[in-house]
Amino acid sequence: PRGMALLRDPLLNKGTAFTEEERDALGLRGFLPAHVFSMQAQADRVMANLRGLTSDLAKYVALNELHDRNEALFFRVVSDNIDEIQPLIYTPTVGLACQRFGYIFQRPRGLFIGPNDRGHIAELLNNWPYPAKLIVVTDGERILGLGDLGANGMGIPVGKLSLYSACAGVHPELCLPVMLDVGTNNEALLNDPYYIGLRQRRLGGAAYDELVDEFMTAAREVFPGVLIQFEDFANHSAFRLLQKYRDKACVFNDDIQGTAAVALAGLLSALRATGGNLNDQRLLFLGAGEAATGIADLVVSAMMAQGASEAEALRRNWLVDSRGLVVKNRPGLSEHKLRYAHEQAPIGDFLTAIRTLKPTAIIGVAAVGGAFTPEVLQAMTEINDRPIVFALSNPTSKSECSAEEAYRHTEGRALFACGSPYDPVQLNGKTLVPRQGNNSYIFPGVGLGAIASGARLVTDEMFMAAAYTLAHLVDEADILQGSLYPALPRIREVSAHIGAAVAEVAYRRGLATGHVPNDLIGHVQSQMYDPHY
Ligand code: NAP
Ligand code: MN
Repeated sequence: PRGMALLRDPLLNKGTAFTEEERDALGLRGFLPAHVFSMQAQADRVMANLRGLTSDLAKYVALNELHDRNEALFFRVVSDNIDEIQPLIYTPTVGLACQRFGYIFQRPRGLFIGPNDRGHIAELLNNWPYPAKLIVVTDGERILGLGDLGANGMGIPVGKLSLYSACAGVHPELCLPVMLDVGTNNEALLNDPYYIGLRQRRLGGAAYDELVDEFMTAAREVFPGVLIQFEDFANHSAFRLLQKYRDKACVFNDDIQGTAAVALAGLLSALRATGGNLNDQRLLFLGAGEAATGIADLVVSAMMAQGASEAEALRRNWLVDSRGLVVKNRPGLSEHKLRYAHEQAPIGDFLTAIRTLKPTAIIGVAAVGGAFTPEVLQAMTEINDRPIVFALSNPTSKSECSAEEAYRHTEGRALFACGSPYDPVQLNGKTLVPRQGNNSYIFPGVGLGAIASGARLVTDEMFMAAAYTLAHLVDEADILQGSLYPALPRIREVSAHIGAAVAEVAYRRGLATGHVPNDLIGHVQSQMYDPHY
């Protein structure tokens, strides 16, 4: 029976690549057809099959099936074809997969935890057969820019953790996706006969907080030292949970902190092209939530590190939310916006805000698709020789503008980054290559560094180090073609460097476990999972 069990365990299965010796020794005789394939041949076959599929959702499902069947082969294929596959297992396709999650759900991956598990969450976590060191947890309330997708949001922790293994070599056995299924307020899902989650409205108030707290305590008890990444919580939970746990547990919020680091890195790259100084920039954000205030806070810290006073740095960052420009006299502003509520007459719309404040950069993080209209882009071009335009909202349908639009309406002068991928654009005989301003450049390396150093906490200083490290890996050729980030195929090298930078902060600040290794990057690299048999 052992041979069959092996073929059904995705962590051990090699399929048609089991050697003759293994087939004899492991009781596999007869189960497999005669020809023994190399891993490379298997990977080539997977890619050929994948390219034969016509819809992205079908490709997502096929990759998911491979993940469930043969983990090493899945990660080999993802790592070797990251440009082609990341968009299928992550944004934008993962958004569609979440919307259709009940229809494509086959085998569980990760744990679903809900109000009915109160009092037993530690037992439930003990059902997990692997030694988790990294949890990505969501409650599904703000999945990408798609809103409340309830338990269908499980696609996000699964996708994020796949990138951890593929892009930073965090061993898949260490990764645990968690869905806190507290219900959903999405009426369409509540009425959908195939909805997979708890069919009730969202738990709120103290009951919600107690559930999260039991989970946090149980997770750290069952998996001592585990790193917990909060992902795609709505902002009324996200800021609060981060505040509550950041000084006592190894946690971070990717939407706030990871996004901040990738945006700061992109800004630093853009300044290499414009020749400007960070402390002379004026940033106008469309959006005033997790991503916007996370980015603004890190930019303020970076400006202060370069000599600006806090007041000066704050005044260089402006937010526009669903009710217009965030200004001092506006009543009822939420806590996270107060730092950026400057003395200024109210302005209702983004274009007027641009004309009034004359920003050097606009950063779209409001999930309002198409908000960077031709007029917005032209206004930025009138004010700036090289306008910085970041359309960071996901998935592609929520993007503030496409790469094409960004370049076309700025006469090719925009320094552009996008949350979801866009192809290169030809303009006036030049090829411009936009790259993704997505926290996927940051979180894999941060997690790797935190795990490699046994960090007790994850700090803003680590994200600052990650941002500068990422920016340093952008070369001159990248900048010349308009790329503000390194090419994606370099992601494992990028993650190793970010990991080392994060670990360095952990050791220097006394947050690490054990002695400082002599060769930090070597130490980090030695822990990276390399998918092969
Ligand atoms: P969030 O915390 O919910 O914030 C959304 C913000 O957008 C809120 O401040 C909201 O205003 C504002 N908004 C909504 N409609 C608006 C409108 N018509 N005009 C102006 N502002 C409007 O969400 P988030 O976590 O910041 O995420 C926002 C977007 O960024 C999502 O699409 C997400 O996918 C994307 N994101 C991208 C990355 C990346 O790495 N590229 C990372 C994280 C997030 P109110 O405050 O008035 O409600
Ligand atoms: Mn997110």
